Amino acid sequence: MKPPAIVLCYCCEAIATTKDHIPPKCFFPAKNDLPGNSPDYRSQLVTVPACSAHNNSRSGDDEYTAAVIIMNSKSDLAFSVFNSKWVQAMLRRDGGLGKRIFSTATSIGVTSRENGILIPHATLAIFYEVKRVERVIESISRALFYLESGCQEKWTSECVVKSPKLLNRDLSNTQDAFSLSQINQAFIHGEKRQELGMTRHGVHPEVFYYQFLRSQQMNFIIRMVFYNDFAFFAFPKHKEAAPASCDLAL
Ligand SMILES: [Zn+2]
Repeated sequence: MKPPAIVLCYCCEAIATTKDHIPPKCFFPAKNDLPGNSPDYRSQLVTVPACSAHNNSRSGDDEYTAAVIIMNSKSDLAFSVFNSKWVQAMLRRDGGLGKRIFSTATSIGVTSRENGILIPHATLAIFYEVKRVERVIESISRALFYLESGCQEKWTSECVVKSPKLLNRDLSNTQDAFSLSQINQAFIHGEKRQELGMTRHGVHPEVFYYQFLRSQQMNFIIRMVFYNDFAFFAFPKHKEAAPASCDLAL
């Protein structure tokens, strides 16, 4: 009989002794935090082999990222999760996660267009710690890559994380906003046409799903969508900071 294969941590060369939830459990609302007839979003979550050092090693960052995503997603589910005791408690806990998020809030003037009329009004802009969010998404991406390879191959090269939702500090679009939204559209269209690599993976797609697309120029690109609204892309670093939309061999 063959001895059991040794499985390594998705993140380092240590032998995996635990399983880490991907994405972390805190992204998924617990059943008792939602209305009675809601599904159990914490059931059958996907796990990845991890060493004890890398299991829950970023729980503060994870909660911060989950809160940022929930606060900025427009789906009905995100809205009811945001209003739940769970998010409110999460915002209060850990040295005031809420305080940390809202400490950067500043009042700004924006202009909206209603029936063709431009209306100036004040709103609240919050500057998120983008690097923290990117670290968490990077870690999720590396774990998904490991799982996609059947725990055989690790993503060792540098990882780039982008989101069409993240804006510059002055609220203008980032330099690569245009190509990011084109890539997003390409995924949405490809999914409708049921193209290879566009299949949604995830046990609770209302909270999280991902698509893993291999492409000639990019090598691969992972699209992760939280709460049906907040999308991130992760891909290996190339010379250019952002992928051009034509790089997607669709
Ligand atoms: Zn490890």
